[in-house]
Amino acid sequence: SNFIVGLTGGIGSGKTAVSNRFAKLGVGIVDADVIAREVVEPGTDALAMITAHFGQHLIQCDGQLDRAALRQTIFSNAEAKQWLESLLHPLIANETARQLAAVQSSYAMYVSPLLVERSQQGFCQRLVVVDVPEPVQLERTMKRDSNEQAQVERIIASQASREARLAAASDVIDNNAGFAELDKQISQLHQQFLDLARNSKV
Ligand code: ATP
Repeated sequence: SNFIVGLTGGIGSGKTAVSNRFAKLGVGIVDADVIAREVVEPGTDALAMITAHFGQHLIQCDGQLDRAALRQTIFSNAEAKQWLESLLHPLIANETARQLAAVQSSYAMYVSPLLVERSQQGFCQRLVVVDVPEPVQLERTMKRDSNEQAQVERIIASQASREARLAAASDVIDNNAGFAELDKQISQLHQQFLDLARNSKV
């Protein structure tokens, strides 16, 4: 499909709840978080290059990359961060393009928590923002992850502001109400995207 709907929202806003519902309607989902893990799966050239560069201690007992340890390694080392980004960025971009091109449904949905931060609106025909007030975001995330409030607040502060996301949106899902209300908004948007995708083809 060449019609791409971007989906973003802050931590705990409900991106997964929303994308699961679009998936159920038959929409092919491409998830930025999944791709970031796939490009460094055991056996990939990227993982071999990372361990050759930073050391075998970054491999967990299960053979997977220790992402927390890698984050720690590059945290206060701009050169290391630069090296890692120039390795991973093209791999992630290629894999994203490959998966989007392989989607068979009328339109594809690209889900990323950092879509606005990374200015990826350009390759999306529409941008859906899942929106909730910050206190709701905080409460749902803490309940889901049993994280401390300060930790969740730090993550919220590190992401784009609610205002910045809303300014970039072509469509907003208000996820402050319950799941019944969410389903209603999603089926309306789905119909709209099917129409737009159909008309943008010829
Ligand atoms: P992250 O960015 O951390 O991956 P997310 O945006 O994918 O988060 P979800 O995991 O979908 O967010 O939702 C956060 C939590 O809030 C989950 O436990 C989910 O079940 C719950 N939730 C989502 N939408 C609603 C809703 N409308 N009503 C009540 N709870 C909800």
